Amino acid sequence: MEQLQLLWELQEIEREIRQKEKELQNLASVIKYKQQKTAFLDFLEEKKKAEERYAGEKKSLKHYEIELQNISDTLKELNSELYSGKISSAKELESLEKKVRSKEKEKSDLEEKILASMENLENGEKEIAELKIREKEKKEALQKSNTHARRDVANVRGELELLKGKQDELMRTIDAHLISKYRELNNRLQGRCISLVKKGFCGVCNVSLPSSFRSRMLTPGELVFCENCGCLLVPGD
Ligand SMILES: [Zn+2]
Repeated sequence: MEQLQLLWELQEIEREIRQKEKELQNLASVIKYKQQKTAFLDFLEEKKKAEERYAGEKKSLKHYEIELQNISDTLKELNSELYSGKISSAKELESLEKKVRSKEKEKSDLEEKILASMENLENGEKEIAELKIREKEKKEALQKSNTHARRDVANVRGELELLKGKQDELMRTIDAHLISKYRELNNRLQGRCISLVKKGFCGVCNVSLPSSFRSRMLTPGELVFCENCGCLLVPGD
C-alpha cells in the first residue's frame, strides 16, 4: 500500500484506539459492578447494626435477670422478716409491708421487661437469619457481576492490544517525515486530518474537489490539501 494510504489507516486505527480507551472507562458491566459493590457494603453495615442490636438486647436481658434474682432475694428476706413474729410495732409492720409491696411492683415491672426483651431477641434472631440468607444471595450476585465485568475489561483490553500492535507496525512502515506531518496536522485540526478521497469528494468535509487535484495527488512526493477543511488528501479509489 502507498505511504499516504497507510497514513490514513494509522489515523483510523488511532481513532479506534481512543474510542476503545473511552469504552474501557465506561463499561456498563463495570459501572454495574461498582454500584452493586457499594450497595453490598451498605447492606453489610445494616447487618452489622442488627447484630449489634441483638448483642445489646442479650446483654440487657442478662442484666435484668440478675436484677430479678436480687429483688427476689430481697423479697424473700423482707417476707421472712414480716412473718417472723418478731416485729410487734404496728408502725414498723406497716413500713415493712409497704417495702414488700414496692419490691413486688418492681419485680412485676422487671418481669414485663424480661418478656419484652425475650420477644425482641426472638425477632432479632429471625432478622439476622434473614439477613444472612440475603447476604449469601447478594455475595453470589456480586461475584457473578465481577466475573462479567472482568471478562468485558479483558475483551476490550485484548482488542486494544491488537490495535496497538497494528499501530506500531504502521509507525515502523510509514516514513518518519509523513508521521510528523500527520501529528502536526492532527494537532492543528483537532480531529480527522487525513482525508480519503473517493469519487472526487473529500472524505472528511465531503466537498467536491476539482479534477486537477487527482493528478496532483498521484504525483509522487506531492502533498495535496483540501482547500475547504485543510486535510491531507489521499486517493481512496
Ligand atoms: Zn475537505
